[in-house]
Parts: sequence; C-alpha cells; structure tokens
Amino acid sequence: MDIHEYQAKEILSNFGVGIPQGALAYSPEQAAYRAREMGGDRWVVKAQVHAGGRGKAGGVKLCSSDSEIQTVTEGMLGQKIVTHQTGPEGKGIYRVYVEAAVPITREIYVGFVLDRARQRVMIVASSEGGMEIEDISAQQPESIVRATVEPAVGLQEFQCREIAFALGIKPGMVQQMVRTLLGCYRAFRDLDATMVEVNPLVITGDDRILALDAKMTFDNNALFRHPQVSELRDKSQEDPRESRAADRGLSYVGLNGNIGCIVNGAGLAMATMDTIKLAGGEPANFLDIGGGATPERVAKAFRLVMSDKNVQAILVNIFAGINRCDWVAEGVVRALREEPVDVPVVVRLAGTNVKEGQKILAQSGLPLIRATTLMEAAERAVMAWRSDTNRNPNLKVV
Ligand code: GDP
Ligand code: MN
Repeated sequence: MDIHEYQAKEILSNFGVGIPQGALAYSPEQAAYRAREMGGDRWVVKAQVHAGGRGKAGGVKLCSSDSEIQTVTEGMLGQKIVTHQTGPEGKGIYRVYVEAAVPITREIYVGFVLDRARQRVMIVASSEGGMEIEDISAQQPESIVRATVEPAVGLQEFQCREIAFALGIKPGMVQQMVRTLLGCYRAFRDLDATMVEVNPLVITGDDRILALDAKMTFDNNALFRHPQVSELRDKSQEDPRESRAADRGLSYVGLNGNIGCIVNGAGLAMATMDTIKLAGGEPANFLDIGGGATPERVAKAFRLVMSDKNVQAILVNIFAGINRCDWVAEGVVRALREEPVDVPVVVRLAGTNVKEGQKILAQSGLPLIRATTLMEAAERAVMAWRSDTNRNPNLKVV
C-alpha cells in the first residue's frame, strides 16, 4: 500500500526526521489560509498523488503570495496529473500540501528498500538528489552509496556515519545525518514498510537536514498489525478494479491484455500467466480466490473479472488442495446462470473433488470449454479468444 507524501512526512517526523513546516488543504481558500498561518513569504504547493515525478509534470509550484497560492491550487484540484509513474490515465488530485519553502544548498537521494534476494534491508544513497534513482544509476552510477542492514543488530551508527562521509556531509552535520538515517530505518522496520524514499533530502542554507519529499510503501500482509497505517489508505489513488476486489476479500491485479484469469494462489497465478503468454495470449488480470473458496466467492470473482472491459476470454485455473473443485464448479455455473457472459470461458480443474467438479460443469449445459492440463487450458483460452475476436470485428485482435 502506498501513502501520500504528507502522510509519509508526518510518520518520518515522528521518528525524528526533520521536515519543512507544512499543512494539508482541500480547497484554494484553505491552502491560502494554511500559508498565512505558517507565515513566511514563499511557499510550495504540492499535488498529493501516489506517484513521483510531480515536479516535472507541474504538480509542485513555488508561490510568493496568497492569490498565487489560490490560483495554483485552483488549477490543481480536481485535475488529473500524468507523470512517468502514473501511467497514461494519470491520477486525480484531491488534496494539496502547502509547505514553507526552504533555501536549498544540496539535494541528496536516500532510499530504503527490501532486497528480497539478500533478505536484507538495503540503503541506497546518492549525492545526486532530485533526479530519479533510475536516472542516477544510468548517468552517475559512481555517486551511489549502498549499505546492507544485518537484521540481528539493525542499522548501526557507524554505517550511517560511513554513508554521511561518502556523501560528503560536513563533519558538524554528520550527527544530524545519522539521526535522519536511523529515523528512516526505524520507521521502515517498525511499520513493516517495503520502501522509504526521501528524494530529495536537502541541506538548507542554515545547516538543517530536511526531507523535502517522502514516499513510503507498506507490506499489505502486515497492515493488520498497523491500524494507524491502514487508515491512511486513499482509494482515489488506486486501480478501482483492485480496490473493489480488496473490499470483497479477493486479491486482484489488473494487467493490459485480454484474457481474464481466475486462479487460486499467487504461484499458480504466475504460472497461469506465463503459460498464457507461452500460448501466444496476454492476460488482462488475475484474480486470486484464495483457499477454501465458496461458490459465492467464485461467483463474485466472475463478476469482478467481467467488469473489466478488456476481458475477451476467461480462464479459470484451479489446483484444489484446500479448495474443492465441486464448489468452484458450482460457483462458475452459478455466476454464468445469474449473468451470462458473451466471451468464451475455459475451465481447468485439478485436485480435491475434481470428478464431482467436472460432473457439475458437464451437466450444467453451459457452453464451457474444459481442459485437463494447464498448457491445454492456456492454448484453448488463447484459441477461443482468437476465434471469438475474429468473429467480432469491433474487438481488437493482437
Ligand atoms: P516529485 O517531483 O514528485 O519527486 O516531487 P518533489 O517533492 O521531489 O519536488 C520536486 C522538486 O521541487 C524538488 O526536487 C525540489 O527541487 C523542488 N522543491 C520542492 N519543494 C521545495 C521547496 O520547499 N523549496 C525549493 N526551493 N524547492 C522545492
Ligand atoms: Mn521527489
């Protein structure tokens, strides 16, 4: 789960990381009022969306008067911003963050990420802040400093000092840098984050180290133990298909192809998508019905997958261990009786109660395409999709 910049800053600040003074606003008047409250004569109005690259896309504007703040905020709220991270459809701006502008002397990059291969938290820092990390690593790879955290002991102060020296932080400010890095690390660890990125971390004219931008991503599987973090979820920033599924206790991932996939388990989902690609097709999404799915749940899954306009064929691939093929079959039949679909449906069942499941499908009288192996299922789905779309000239044939 992603959160907004202002939320990430508040969290980091609670862990001792310095941030500029700022306040949230939902309207132009409120934005101007917030700035007046703060005082000063220069402010930055920042669009709050779950994406970086706002600066280049007009989502970060420096203002020096009340009326300018109002005009800028007016121009942002309700609009969609398209950055290289939002995808072409962009993300809606419904709140802005107003910040007291700070005099910047240096911009640094600091990121904390989970290195799954090494099973460690990694710190990536660079003296070339302000640019995206991808650009830094392409253009100035020598500026990147890395450190690995040993989980048994956590991030050590000497590691932070080493990073500070490598970034050329002057001696009088090293301790401040150590506090900043430790604060980010503790926020990451204590709240089960998978990413903390401060870009830029700035050094001000009056020798303060401040997080000028902040991004945090959290491990969805650990949200249950951080209610104060789950509360920060903003559905307006998510793929509506995915949040609708999450509300129904199903996990859904939207993709760009045409074959909708209903599977059980993430591993089987990956294998199913690989096989569809191998067979010459492109998955539109995958929906994981999880273990112990009831017919109701399967029927719900069907409706969700069908609500995606790009879906031109459906592949149901179930390898039932905890699940029961007869329940899945019943769910499929129920869904299709309640709301017939106009795309081909391929069903492959294996595992617990497979015979009963096959019988239910066979006796339903529905035009289902059945398959025994995964390869067969993928090939039939792609073939059915091809011939179906050929018949219908309005549909895109890849
Ligand atoms: P992003 O483009 O979405 O990553 O948004 P950022 O919050 O990183 O802002 C982009 C750029 O705007 C930063 O790299 C800064 O150079 C600039 N910026 C943001 N806030 C301030 C500020 O308070 N003062 C000044 N002078 N520049 C700022
Ligand atoms: Mn940034």
